[in-house]
Amino acid sequence: MTGTLYIVSTPIGNLGDITIRAVDVLKNVDLVLAEDTRHSKKLFAHYDIGTPLRAFHEHNEKDKTEAIINEINTGKSIAIISDAGTPLISDPGYHLVSNAKNVGLNVVPIPGPSALIAALTSSGLTSNSFTFFGFLPSKQVARLKFLQVKMNLDETIIFYESPKRILSTLKDMLEVFGGSREVCLAKELTKSFETILRDKLPNLIEYLSADISHQRGEFVILVSPADKIDLIESERQLDKILPILCAEMGASKASKLAAKITGLDKKHCYKRAKSL
Ligand code: SAM
Repeated sequence: MTGTLYIVSTPIGNLGDITIRAVDVLKNVDLVLAEDTRHSKKLFAHYDIGTPLRAFHEHNEKDKTEAIINEINTGKSIAIISDAGTPLISDPGYHLVSNAKNVGLNVVPIPGPSALIAALTSSGLTSNSFTFFGFLPSKQVARLKFLQVKMNLDETIIFYESPKRILSTLKDMLEVFGGSREVCLAKELTKSFETILRDKLPNLIEYLSADISHQRGEFVILVSPADKIDLIESERQLDKILPILCAEMGASKASKLAAKITGLDKKHCYKRAKSL
């Protein structure tokens, strides 16, 4: 008899947000793999879970996978949890689950909280179609490039961001997306200082800059879909102003200015300026 690998979601802040089934599974498996065993001990104490915990994180996942699969093959049932929310969602577990599926093991999800879903469903932004990109690149050049590639997506786009970079990331978003998109900042979800703000980027930047405490905590950023009508309007505006600007200055300066005015991508404006 082989065992089962359970993917168990745990709270993202409020200890009450765990399912009865999740607690039951965590109590009854042979072993729980946790990102930070000290962190998970608090959850275990709260729910009186006595199952052994073993460290399983991004630095040892690849080394540990084979041994864990062998343990399940010999009949052990094992659960994986992360520090918060759903494992594998910007958290360890993909390598293990992928290998477990490759060898035909039984993988069972125990669904529950995830910050991206809590944020999306309370943002008021369209939820029919969305893409989650996890954490943005931490270096500004790579981040700007990434945002430029995604700026015209016709669906809600969702990112995780650390408090260290939240202000600079919103400033980068303003540079790439312009100021007209609706953006939601979902901060400290399910915790005492939960704040869910939906506004234009300049106002959200003002909120974060107004008080350093506003930049503390955990954040999800959601950006409304690129509005096709806005894009068409911006292109029209570009058609009008680009020849005028190019007559007064070089293509590089003109396209930078045009990008600022229209909210369109700088590279796109430059290409158009060169083709005039
Ligand atoms: N696995 C988790 C999930 O299912 O949401 C995500 C883990 S990822 C390492 C941690 C990031 O998720 C944080 O930096 C933040 O962007 C987001 N996050 C986690 N908990 C949050 C909360 N309570 N409020 C807002 N964002 C949160």
